Amino acid sequence: MKEHLASYPYEKPSLDYMQAHIESAVDAQQSNACTLHEAWAKVPAPLNATEIQQYQEEIRELLKQHNAVMVAHYYVEPELQDLALATGGMVGDSLEMAKFCKNHPADTLLVVGVRFMGETAKILSPQKTVLMPDLDATCSLDLGCPADEFKQFCDEHPDRTVVVYANTSAEVKAHADWVVTSSIAIEIVEHLHSQGKKIIWGPDRHLGQYIQDKTGADMLLWQGSCIVHNEFKGIELTHLKQQHPKAIVLVHPESPAEVVALADVVGSTSKLLNAAVQRPEQEFIVATDQGILHEMQKQAPHKKFFAAPTAGNGATCKSCAFCPWMAMNGLAACAKVLRDHSQEVQLDAALIEEARAPIQRMLDFSEAYKNYHQQHQQLGAGLAQFQQWLATQHEAKYSTL
Ligand code: SF4
Repeated sequence: MKEHLASYPYEKPSLDYMQAHIESAVDAQQSNACTLHEAWAKVPAPLNATEIQQYQEEIRELLKQHNAVMVAHYYVEPELQDLALATGGMVGDSLEMAKFCKNHPADTLLVVGVRFMGETAKILSPQKTVLMPDLDATCSLDLGCPADEFKQFCDEHPDRTVVVYANTSAEVKAHADWVVTSSIAIEIVEHLHSQGKKIIWGPDRHLGQYIQDKTGADMLLWQGSCIVHNEFKGIELTHLKQQHPKAIVLVHPESPAEVVALADVVGSTSKLLNAAVQRPEQEFIVATDQGILHEMQKQAPHKKFFAAPTAGNGATCKSCAFCPWMAMNGLAACAKVLRDHSQEVQLDAALIEEARAPIQRMLDFSEAYKNYHQQHQQLGAGLAQFQQWLATQHEAKYSTL
């Protein structure tokens, strides 16, 4: 195993340890990334109501002028999520964002999230201009998985199918056989496992472990983690559950195993949102970035949501579940990049070509899986039936699944 892979001990690394690791990763990358401290320093100051309205009107106008659409992640600030929806764009998780960007006819995509999301949009729509409020907004999973080291890791295990999480650079995706998001990861790994394939998984170790436990697949795990989800605490969550015994616990699988073990629902941000809206219970404890609480509260205004506890940064802080890189996105930056067409995602054409195949494979699988379930609900959700159905499909794109 490479030194890098052992650099996060399996026990939870401290925030200081991760901060030091992130700083060295940013140094190594030399461009287009910033450390935790730099990210917090770049978080825009809060705007007053008049400023928010002025920027929203300006952005609305600029989107029209440039035939552009705004696509936002659930973890960015509420006023950005609301503006994306109000201007005909969308708010979603990374799989939904990727599909929307690919299918929307706009010439320009304003992707409000972190860099791998803008890169994925560019890979799937190379003819479109992809702008982001700040290209330095990155992700600890992306930073913790340098492409050269990951490639070496893959080369050492040539018999394994390489499955990478969407939270990676275009270069890492180019080494993969499959890209997955948390919305479809279990289904894809289960499918590969049933074909007898052994897997290399990167970069999130918690999500990898969760998938391995669920599917029984033979998986070698890269040892990266999300600095937000890694901080949720099992003991503190148990105490919060005792204070709210009727609450349902919703957990994103990037969280540590002891937190996942306390969950009533585990899944992607979209799955957690659906559970919050559709389940009959009235109280929910939510273990993912607190940005999602905005949409949950909008869709279920009569319900109560509590942020799951983290290590916290201060004496009064029980949950600091905010991603600093997501928080770098702001209205002023959105207006600026639309005005001057700066912060454009640029990727080499050959890299786009290489990285597109594993992403497209995920999208094709996701489409096939959805079609199968729409057509055959009465047959149940079994993998074997899905695979039999897949074998009867004549579309060329399904032959590589
Ligand atoms: S919340 Fe975690 S996984 Fe999501 S962008 Fe931030 S660091 Fe990455």
